[in-house]
This record gives sequence, C-alpha cells and structure tokens, in this order.
Amino acid sequence: MKAVRIHQFGGSEVLIYEDVPDPQPRKDQVLVRVRACALNHLDVWVRKGLPGVKLPHILGSDIAGEVVEAGEYVTGFRPGQRVLLAPMHFCGRCAKCVAGLQNQCREFTVLGNAVDGGNCELIAVPAANVIPIPDTLDFNQAASVPLVFLTAWHMLVGRAGIRLGQTVLVLGASSGVGIAAIQIARLFHCRVITTAGDETKLEKARALGADFGINHYKQKISEEVRKITRKCEIAEARRYARNLWSDHGAECGN
Ligand SMILES: [Zn+2]
Repeated sequence: MKAVRIHQFGGSEVLIYEDVPDPQPRKDQVLVRVRACALNHLDVWVRKGLPGVKLPHILGSDIAGEVVEAGEYVTGFRPGQRVLLAPMHFCGRCAKCVAGLQNQCREFTVLGNAVDGGNCELIAVPAANVIPIPDTLDFNQAASVPLVFLTAWHMLVGRAGIRLGQTVLVLGASSGVGIAAIQIARLFHCRVITTAGDETKLEKARALGADFGINHYKQKISEEVRKITRKCEIAEARRYARNLWSDHGAECGN
C-alpha cells in the first residue's frame, strides 16, 4: 500500500510518500481502508519528535474509512461498512484494561503516536476500536470526531460525571475539544456557558447549542459566570450575613 511515513523528526519536509507492506490483521482485528484522516495537532508534535516513537512511523490519529474484512474472532462488521476508529491503543488484558481503565494501561497510546496511524491506505485495528458511522456523516466529517470527542467525553462524562440540568463552562468554544464539549454537554441537557475571542466564534458556539457566550477579551469570565449562574447574588448574601454576624460579635464583645 501507499503511506506517508517519517524516517526522522522535523518539519513537513520529513513526510515521505512511499510504498510500505500491507498490514496483516490478526484474527481479532478489522482491516479498514482509510478514506479520511484528519490533521490533529498531535501529528505535528509527533513529527517534531516525541519519546517512544519508533521510526519509520506513520502519523494520523483521526481516521474514518470502510471495513475491508473482519478477522475470524470478530462479529458484527461487514465489508464496505462505513466506520470511524476510536484512537486508543491498549493491551486489553492487564488489570487496568479489564477494570475499564484502559488509559492507565502500560501500553496505552493513541493511533499515530507510539503505534502507526492512518496516513496510509489500510490499517488493522482491534474490533473494539471500530465504530460504525451514520450516513449523515461523510468521511471527512467523521475523521474530525475521534480524538477531540474522546478527550471531551472523558473530561465531562468520565471525570466530571455531568448530569441533566447542570451548568457546564467550556473554555475555548472554537477549539476542537471545545466544539466537542459543547455538543456533549447539550446531549446531557446541561446549560452551556462558553468563551471565545470574537463574535463569529461565539455565534458558531451558539449554533452548536451553547446557551451563553463570553468574549474573553472584552469581559471577565469569572464575573460573567457569576452573573449567569446568579452566584454573585449568593456571594453578596453570604457577605451580608458575615457582616451581620461580625457586627453582632462586636456588640457582644466576642
Ligand atoms: Zn492493558
């Protein structure tokens, strides 16, 4: 197959378009024909040189494509099926993986980082990484999803445990992770406050479902958030109560 590989770290001049052997999928893997691979900032960091990257190396973390064939141990996929690839790479056997903490696996990395990625025609990945996509998403759109949605989902759902009706502040509405976070928070029926540096970006954020936009060049984020969440009133009430108490203390001689 054809692939773009790097044989040394550096600028875009180290990207080499060349012939490489086709991947040989294991019985628990799915072979996918890459139709789109987005450029993530991670690609630039890896290209410039990160520890643990073996050369030559294929970059590319955000991959969408079509199933070519599924291994003997895999069910539920058919040739031609449109999919995106969840970018996590983990062993699947260690205590952390079995406990659902794959990101703490000693082998954890993402496609295109410490293992080959999607700047190529074919890639073989475990079936757990393969996610069918709806017809409403074209391959380019699907390839924009994996890393940013993985990161935002882990933050909001995995760590913060967001729930219906809560308020979520998303810093940086127009970043990849910000765009994902706004949509995930809306999915959970949260109220979304977001920030950006200009009105066009804030408009885009509102179109994605953000309820409030703060221009961080013109407004102070903490003050605006307090106003929106009415925490300023609560803070004022607390201050008032504290003052009353200290006056009371002074009168009592305490
Ligand atoms: Zn593991």
